[in-house]
Amino acid sequence: MAASLVCALFWAGAARADKIVLKNGRKIVASNVVEEGDKIRYETSAGQMVLPRSIVDHIEKGGMMPLTDSPAAVAANLSAEPPELPPVANASGIDQGAVHDGAVDRTYIAKVVNETRAGSLTANQAAARAYHAASIFEVTKGDLPNALIDARTALTYLPEEPALLMNVAYLYLRQSQFKESLEYLQRAERVAPKSADVYKLEGWAYYGMNRPDQAVAEWKKSLSLRPDAETQAALRKALRDKTEEENYLENESAHFQLKYNGAAQPELARQVLHVLEGHYEDIESELNFSPPDPVGVVLYTQQGFADITRAPGWVGALNDGRIRVPVRGLTGVDSELSRVLRHELTHSFIQQKTHGRVPTWIQEGVAQWMEGKRSEENAAVLVRIYDAGQAAPLGRLEGSWMGLPSDMAGYAYAWALANVEYIVETDGMGDIERILDRLGAGTSTEQALRDVLHDDYNDLMQSTAEYLKKNYGH
Ligand SMILES: [Zn+2]
Repeated sequence: MAASLVCALFWAGAARADKIVLKNGRKIVASNVVEEGDKIRYETSAGQMVLPRSIVDHIEKGGMMPLTDSPAAVAANLSAEPPELPPVANASGIDQGAVHDGAVDRTYIAKVVNETRAGSLTANQAAARAYHAASIFEVTKGDLPNALIDARTALTYLPEEPALLMNVAYLYLRQSQFKESLEYLQRAERVAPKSADVYKLEGWAYYGMNRPDQAVAEWKKSLSLRPDAETQAALRKALRDKTEEENYLENESAHFQLKYNGAAQPELARQVLHVLEGHYEDIESELNFSPPDPVGVVLYTQQGFADITRAPGWVGALNDGRIRVPVRGLTGVDSELSRVLRHELTHSFIQQKTHGRVPTWIQEGVAQWMEGKRSEENAAVLVRIYDAGQAAPLGRLEGSWMGLPSDMAGYAYAWALANVEYIVETDGMGDIERILDRLGAGTSTEQALRDVLHDDYNDLMQSTAEYLKKNYGH
């Protein structure tokens, strides 16, 4: 049924994933975890990794993870940990006072802070430690905004402490705020010039800012101080991009950094930027959001695209933190290319607005809506599938679609669009905006739907089927 439904666009979204818990308490979020004798193989955004079985405590199956190559997604899975805080008197007492019984004890922290009035170093160390403990606890609960507030407060008591500077930088990185992250990392570098982790994170910050040359330089510095599989894999990928893009030309506009193959026309590049700026303005007002960072765009010849992205053959363009578009010898922007750019740009907005915490069906549904697609000729087929009880549960379309065969992918795109179309047509884009805000704050998708639409997944699918019948039936 679905050949006519196939949408050639693709978003490397989130995937179901496992958590590897090490004996030292560290957790690694990974996909495709395989146990092979005395080794555990797994994949992260940075590539395939291997661990000795002996250091693994257990493996937790399931759970959502972002599986994009976007810097924010990778940062969320980095194994870099802030160095230990320097020892203070009664360290474990402070940690337990600040966080106990599954909550932060603000009364206790206020007491510790009170002691700093006399200005002693010990009291300042204790206050920093208490806020740091609160911040680490909030990270484990997925509450990054509050973790960042506490991390920054900790720093006010010990402004030169590398561990605290790195924690703030790391939290900015996880929220895709690369410039802010870099600022703190550069401060950390001045006080801890021999820390491999500082350079590792600096590499990611530069990578996120679309400055791969600086990222490569930082990762090389990091590796010269300490070998690290993640950094090695990130460096390899960045170098692969760099080789491909070596002969590319650059151009930029207010919100974009564009690279294109020398074989493409400079006029095409100029037109692409012009069209993108127009789309940017529209999407900005539709979603009521301005991405803080410039959006990277790469135009490829067809072969370059296949070599570099290693995406399935049905993928026409993709967005893995940068918008990657094959342009096949075009000399100007036609309506098809304009549509593709608008679709992929929507992904960049949603990615930045939600800090990457967004299910694939919402990403693809909203991107298609923005490019101007409507359910139309797909409505009848979708209704028939729904009435037969065969509709794909939206919960199953949260993860990556990368492994889907092309006909199934076509159905997934159409069904995602229909659900988003129903939401927008019923109450306007404001509902989507509110759902995205909740996802960005760490709420699960179904809870975000309940908060905004007062619907769960089943209600939404049923309403969507009714909407399709009413608007496209005869
Ligand atoms: Zn897409």
